Amino acid sequence: MTEPLLSIRDVSVDFVSAKGRVRAIDRVTLDVARGEILGLAGESGSGKSTLAQALLRILPPPAVITGGSALFEGRDLFAMSERDLCNVRWKRLAIVLQSSLDALNPVLPIGEQLVDTLRAHGSARGQESRRAAELLDAVGIASSRLRSYPHELSGGMRQRVAIALAIALDPALVILDEPTTALDVLVERDVLAMLLGLRDRMGFSVVFITHDLARMSQVSDRIAVLYGARLVEVARTAELLRAPRHPYTQALLRTIPSVEPRDGGLVTIRGTPPSLVTPPLGCRFHPRCDKAIEACRAEQPALLRLGPDHIAACHLEREPARIEPDGQAALTS
Ligand code: SF4
Repeated sequence: MTEPLLSIRDVSVDFVSAKGRVRAIDRVTLDVARGEILGLAGESGSGKSTLAQALLRILPPPAVITGGSALFEGRDLFAMSERDLCNVRWKRLAIVLQSSLDALNPVLPIGEQLVDTLRAHGSARGQESRRAAELLDAVGIASSRLRSYPHELSGGMRQRVAIALAIALDPALVILDEPTTALDVLVERDVLAMLLGLRDRMGFSVVFITHDLARMSQVSDRIAVLYGARLVEVARTAELLRAPRHPYTQALLRTIPSVEPRDGGLVTIRGTPPSLVTPPLGCRFHPRCDKAIEACRAEQPALLRLGPDHIAACHLEREPARIEPDGQAALTS
């Protein structure tokens, strides 16, 4: 079995203030294989972006990585010196942050921004302009646009430039945090098709973060679901769509709009995501879960292996007693 490109083990992140600590990532363990597209799903506040930024150690204070390791190409990102990490960021591990459409420098032509990135990270001298044109070409933009300013480009083109910047140094892993949120559906579809083409040609892995499970399922090889700062389910995409095991994943999938008529119209998940300041005891999903059993209120479910590529954390995989509205447990079949 080949070694994963990225091995995250027991990673925790806290936000520390004078009033105490808030755990924003709670002991997350996850692998990313070489060439794989891993989708990271969950509602806002589940910890998706925090985990991504923790990996690159770009989380601003008061966030603190309080535990775990992140082996990337065999080296722990959390144990590296800042100098070593600088050699990994962008060259081997790149990120397109949320709102990257606004991340381009508005007073510099995009060609200069590409050349600056290549120079800053030691690309071959004298080759930067040619490489910048190649990169634009790779993301489907004519090289005549090298002199264009960001405001002269459409949203879809600016997003393509942001992706060109991320792949400029031929990284092994690109993290895309909500890369298509601000785009209309047709442009979004084109950008994602381009991304798949680039992955096939260049062979990099992708961690694709979005709350849009429908979009994620079209491009991801596997999907990991976060809820309330914890990992609750991971499976290959086809299996997750066909047979989700965690009630939260099942609820998320029911919220995907369908062109087929559906009884009851558009479905939402009742309640709100948990507060991380005062999270519910036991399973954090239990206040919203229609299938909760007595144990869910008191005991955090462990992640269980349900198949070769499928894990989930739910008491239903082993407990037969439901919580009744009056709090009494009753046996179910
Ligand atoms: Fe629902 Fe309990 Fe499973 Fe949590 S552990 S998802 S509350 S059944």
